[in-house]
Amino acid sequence: MYDHILIRYGEISLKGKNQRRFIKKMIKDLKFKVKREYGERVETDYEKGRIFIRLNGEKPEKYYPILENMFGIVSFSPVIKTGTDFEEITETVLKEMQELPEDIRTFKVTSKRSDKSYPMQSPQISRTLGGRILDAFPNLAVDLHHPDQDIFVEVRGDYSYVYTRNIKGPGGMPVNSAGKGLLLLSGGIDSPVAGYLAARKGIDVSAIHFYSYPYTSERAKEKVLTLAQKLSDYKGNFVIHLVPFTEIQEEIAKNCESSYWITIMRRFMFRISERIAAEQECIALITGESVGQVASQTLSSMATINQVISIPVLRPLVTMDKDEIVSIAHRIGTFETSIEPYDDCCTAFLPKEPKTNPQIFIAEDNEEYLDVEGLIDRAVEKTEIVRITKEQSEELF
Ligand code: ATP
Ligand code: MG
Repeated sequence: MYDHILIRYGEISLKGKNQRRFIKKMIKDLKFKVKREYGERVETDYEKGRIFIRLNGEKPEKYYPILENMFGIVSFSPVIKTGTDFEEITETVLKEMQELPEDIRTFKVTSKRSDKSYPMQSPQISRTLGGRILDAFPNLAVDLHHPDQDIFVEVRGDYSYVYTRNIKGPGGMPVNSAGKGLLLLSGGIDSPVAGYLAARKGIDVSAIHFYSYPYTSERAKEKVLTLAQKLSDYKGNFVIHLVPFTEIQEEIAKNCESSYWITIMRRFMFRISERIAAEQECIALITGESVGQVASQTLSSMATINQVISIPVLRPLVTMDKDEIVSIAHRIGTFETSIEPYDDCCTAFLPKEPKTNPQIFIAEDNEEYLDVEGLIDRAVEKTEIVRITKEQSEELF
């Protein structure tokens, strides 16, 4: 019977002085999530390099969905805590072996001792324990390379633990531990994935979305809110800024060469995002751009678009191929929503031949015909802020 879950975290342990703060944050997040999910208090223990959940008779599986999605967790295992006496360890292992599926034919014991004064060394623990298992289960054989079943034993100071499973967590850093960033969230496949990856690194993501009502529908906006809500499953509540983009797009379409529409539209998106980022104390923008995916994502497009702002832009997907991005979208549960067929604001003003190699000076020339500052001011002024919470999104302003 498992009595604890052992949680391993990775990158946090690299963070020197910040380590304590990160660990506290992770334990707090864990307690919060269990409380939210089950209305219960969970007891935890912390010990150098490890966090434990005390199961107190509960089934470990109950906590898996939370742990599998908690940023900062590299892996976790349901464990049985036992004494350090070798006979006691053996007895625990043999009991655990009885619980395992019947079709197991081969096994491997891996041992670790952090208590160097323990009378047996790790290989000796593994070997002796392996022998005892073979005695008790004559149908089994040892396979050190591709065992059907791993058995792990760790001997610590006053106790040991035994486990048979290592379940992967998402890795990364504890939620909201790494500064604030503003995600340019469209209704597409890419930007929600970019937001997830940024949040997984601990970035406190808020979002901005440009819509072009009536060229884009109310449903398109709903779709973005649904995607935002999905992100809040991972990173907690945040705000999304909904920016009306119609006037800007109409002005661009009226006054600029069509091959530069997309470039100029995106220059406006970046300028407005930089402005809102400053208001929200976000110190970076985050986009779902990936090199070469569409005309506006060639290196020279990115450079021409980027030129209008000075805030750093993080592009977590920049070198990924579409299939890699899609597989993450499936895993995090945004894919199905992303492929709903509601138009994004860019598709409403899609030129026949967008420039794949736009020049900064031509973009600037085109913008001479626009009241750039006035357009930005009006869009920012009419921006609504919606708070995204796990349960619902409610209008703030
Ligand atoms: P996505 O799948 O994220 O929509 P995409 O492949 O459609 O990306 P683009 O349309 O070139 O590519 O957009 C590139 C990035 O610009 C998006 O990933 C997103 O970060 C941002 N973006 C595009 N449209 C919008 C929008 N309407 N509101 C906010 N951000 C947007
Ligand atoms: Mg898109």
